[in-house]
Amino acid sequence: MSSSFSAWHDSPFHEFNDAESNTSAPSRPLAAYGWDDAWADAFAPYAEQGLVPGRVVRVDRGQCDVVTADGTLRADTAFVTPHDPLRVICTGDWAAVEPVGDPRFVRTYLPRRTAFVRSTSSNRSEGQILAANVDHAVIAVSLALELDLGRIERFLALAWESGAVPLVVLTKADLVPDPVGLAYLVQDVETAAPGVRVLPVSATTGEGVDALAAVVAGGTSVLLGQSGAGKSTLANVLLGEDVMAVQSAREVDGKGRHTTTTRNLLVLPGGGVLIDTPGLRGVGLYDAGAGVGQVFAEIEELATGCRFHDCSHQAEPECAVLAAIEDGSLAHRRLESYRKLLRENQRIVAKTDARLRAEMRRDWRIKGAVGRANSALKRGHLR
Ligand code: GDP
Ligand code: ZN
Repeated sequence: MSSSFSAWHDSPFHEFNDAESNTSAPSRPLAAYGWDDAWADAFAPYAEQGLVPGRVVRVDRGQCDVVTADGTLRADTAFVTPHDPLRVICTGDWAAVEPVGDPRFVRTYLPRRTAFVRSTSSNRSEGQILAANVDHAVIAVSLALELDLGRIERFLALAWESGAVPLVVLTKADLVPDPVGLAYLVQDVETAAPGVRVLPVSATTGEGVDALAAVVAGGTSVLLGQSGAGKSTLANVLLGEDVMAVQSAREVDGKGRHTTTTRNLLVLPGGGVLIDTPGLRGVGLYDAGAGVGQVFAEIEELATGCRFHDCSHQAEPECAVLAAIEDGSLAHRRLESYRKLLRENQRIVAKTDARLRAEMRRDWRIKGAVGRANSALKRGHLR
């Protein structure tokens, strides 16, 4: 991780000054964080209970930082840290916080519109929630390297699966000065990303930056992509200020101590919100079944024309997919990539199923043991 990548955590844009605080409708200051009528409607029952809405900008060991209409507060997450790791509160969630108390507890959070999840590690199949309520998944792909369409497809699957709308930015476009060459590269990526906007950008020349800023202005975004793809540079451009200076400017907490807090959710000066949680770097693929289908929409579309509805497009007669490869309208690489992602996905799903089955077995064993103990008690075998 480059040093500048972590720099965009500590932007001042999240702060409200007290003049802005507003004890009635929390709409105005929270609008910058993505609060809208639909969130307000969903929150109405909690407002009736006197709970306060706020967006989670950071979660850390039993606590989270929540931006409310009255500023940022630290709240306890004991009520929103269930056993299921996918239901643990995370950055981007809209929290319902107690109006008073020390600590103040987050009582619940609003149903998520979208959620980014990753598999935790190679030998565990539990998912981990990385970010909630993301509208745009900006996939950064460096033009300094040979394009790896398979990797782009992986990120696209993850993005579609989350519910966010993907956008591919081809970074460092200044390194491809030939416009015809650049157009070919964009076209290559477009064939791997049907229905997805592909935008060349350069932090160096500013090319494409306004177009990107316009997209991210409309909601909450995350930047995905390989290390070195130019994510932090782009984030800094979008933040539009000298984040290195901000990084050294430390905050003072309520007790007058200097603290350096890390925010994983930042409001952009041009509008929109950017989320970067540590886990979002190098995300893997987790149960991205629907996502894989969307990345390879044209293959799934072709497959509806196969003679057999469960055609595996290997050697079956009247296979529309193989026919498309034959006549050149579908690249063989695409089909290979599709198969690879499906296989990988099935492996992850199988692992998850195995875990669930093991949990169920354990559950039954416990219930069985309790049942046996109870009947033994009744029969007077146990004291
Ligand atoms: P990250 O790991 O994805 O956050 O990537 P960085 O933002 O740290 O960028 C990786 C490298 O690419 C750094 O050396 C940047 O200076 C360089 N870089 C980023 N954006 C551009 C660009 O638009 N043009 C060129 N030529 N280099 C860039
Ligand atoms: Zn087929």
